[in-house]
Amino acid sequence: MKFGFDIDDTLINLREYAFGLYQEKLGKSVEAEHFHRLDRVEIHSLFGMTDKEGHQMWNSVLEELYFTECPVYPGAVELLQKLDRQGHEIYYLTARPGQHAERTKAWMKQQGFPVADGRFYCGMKDAEKVHIIEELGLDYYFDDKPAVVEHLTRDSLTVIMKDQSYNRHLAHPRIKEWDELERLIESKTKS
Ligand SMILES: [Mg+2]
Repeated sequence: MKFGFDIDDTLINLREYAFGLYQEKLGKSVEAEHFHRLDRVEIHSLFGMTDKEGHQMWNSVLEELYFTECPVYPGAVELLQKLDRQGHEIYYLTARPGQHAERTKAWMKQQGFPVADGRFYCGMKDAEKVHIIEELGLDYYFDDKPAVVEHLTRDSLTVIMKDQSYNRHLAHPRIKEWDELERLIESKTKS
């Protein structure tokens, strides 16, 4: 089977990592519950920043966010390794800017994710991502972002959301923890 995965906030906990980093950089502490209630992907409003300021802030810490200590969600590496051992095809699709493709790929490998040549897509807009997902003929696709998930309509594709505070208005199947996903996949792939 073919499995496709978004990276940020699906396989790795990037936003929450950024939330911690912003507090540290700005010397401003914000209650975690505010973060967990946010209804948009961007986190800068928690720090009183405008969209423009938020965009600048994000870009100023991008290197640190992408290529240092961002935690992987528990169980994600193990699950993908298992799928790989079982002979499934694993694809990664990330909208990170294209110039970060090679380092992102290397960083993912360093974390233990099985990354095969030719199965790593980086640097696309949401609409293009939807197109690539459809073209690849994936059986499963996992993402956290409403703007991507809402446009995936092919019947033979099972779309599963990684639960986040900003995607709960969608009725798609979702998982909170990766061990739930493992059970879900096992029950489907065995049938
Ligand atoms: Mg994402």
